[in-house]
Amino acid sequence: MYPSKPKGQLHRARLVVSWVLLAFMFLAPFIKVGGQPLLLFNLFERKFVIFGLAFWPQDFHLFVLATITFVVFIVLFTVVFGRLWCGWACPQTIFMEMVFRKIEYWIEGNSGKQRALDRGPWNGKKTFKKLSKHAIFLAISFAVGNIVVAYLVGVDKLYQLIADGPGPHLASFIAVVAFSLVTYGVFARFREQVCLIVCPYGRLQSVLLDARSIAVAYDFKRGEPRAPMALKGKEREGGDCIMCNQCVEVCPTGIDIRNGTQLECVNCTACIDACNGVMEKVGFPKGLIRYASHKGISDGSKLTITPRIIGYSTVLVVLLVALVTLMAGRADIETSILRTPGVMYQEIEGDQIRNLYSLKIINKTFAPMPISLVLKEHPGTIAMVGGDIQLPEQGLAEQAFFVDIPRSALKSAHEELTIQVFTGTTLMEEVETKFLGPRIESHESDHDQKKEDDHD
Ligand code: SF4
Ligand code: SF4
Repeated sequence: MYPSKPKGQLHRARLVVSWVLLAFMFLAPFIKVGGQPLLLFNLFERKFVIFGLAFWPQDFHLFVLATITFVVFIVLFTVVFGRLWCGWACPQTIFMEMVFRKIEYWIEGNSGKQRALDRGPWNGKKTFKKLSKHAIFLAISFAVGNIVVAYLVGVDKLYQLIADGPGPHLASFIAVVAFSLVTYGVFARFREQVCLIVCPYGRLQSVLLDARSIAVAYDFKRGEPRAPMALKGKEREGGDCIMCNQCVEVCPTGIDIRNGTQLECVNCTACIDACNGVMEKVGFPKGLIRYASHKGISDGSKLTITPRIIGYSTVLVVLLVALVTLMAGRADIETSILRTPGVMYQEIEGDQIRNLYSLKIINKTFAPMPISLVLKEHPGTIAMVGGDIQLPEQGLAEQAFFVDIPRSALKSAHEELTIQVFTGTTLMEEVETKFLGPRIESHESDHDQKKEDDHD
């Protein structure tokens, strides 16, 4: 594909958006919040940091909910605004159109020159241009590969990899090479085929879009019947499309938008700019190709709120409320307390009953925490096996402990027990568990009697 170099108002706006997004993508792993990366997706150590908040595999439900919310948002957005995402924010389009193709135009020239270069014989000039282009492509791909690995293992480990060389960090080095080669393959070879063949979002368009969805569209009412510009002195007949073919020339996916909305259109707006440029030159109003819905062009109607939009919006609001509620109620620690299986209660001196428990506690914050356990309602004591718990930052601790409760304080052989988890004087969590003890005759026989009475 040899699309012409795009230029115009929308292209300039997209360029600004692209540079902002690219800057964010390249800088995010290096930005630290409270000593932690802004974004980290360490799948190997199962450590995730999003905007300075640490997430653990135990928060997987939040991840699933956030993903579903994002998908519903994209669906709703697509129903109303078509493939705005593809044209303005998709990394594939941004890298292809704003980075790799720009370099191609810079080295090989506009579409005509590129075509001529490819068809021409190999000589010194062609070899130099092709080698320079692919060397720059490989360098950018290598930078992208490093950034992807920085997102996965963190910049500190990436620095270590660079300082120590590949030997001690073979897995990370292989990941850098693999991501670099994939990036190079996609942008140097596969290109728009990713949007046309691979991207599932592109395939979904036929289901999501309807006649009211806003997309890059040709105003067939104004443009048809197409007719070339009239010769001097002759009156021109026909619509506003002067058949200059500029909209097709600039299209990176090689389609003719005048044939209607097509799955191949990534809403890059290049044809809008191209056509506006032509309209300006011939003195016709701009906007023959513009953001519009098919219905809007047919009958001039404005965007209407359809039942489908209301339905998706309702689902989106419900999901957002659920996500915000869960995030707000997310504890800084996660504690699980289990009675040690296979171990019965013990009767110890002083008429105390003892149970053995195992504790697993996860610290989701970036600060270490001293942890203490307290019985909420029962009198008694908690004795940690092996001393106090020092919960490391973003770490976990596992420890056994005994709970001793006076026999007189037990009301049943399977007592409900609430244990409070403190760090300093701050109550972090309350955990419910069971406490086993001897059968309490009076109470339990009353209970059994009551059950018999109920049965009668
Ligand atoms: S650029 Fe505009 S005038 Fe030229 S062919 Fe396309 S729609 Fe017609
Ligand atoms: S038809 Fe779609 S993909 Fe082609 S130039 Fe226009 S907006 Fe871009």
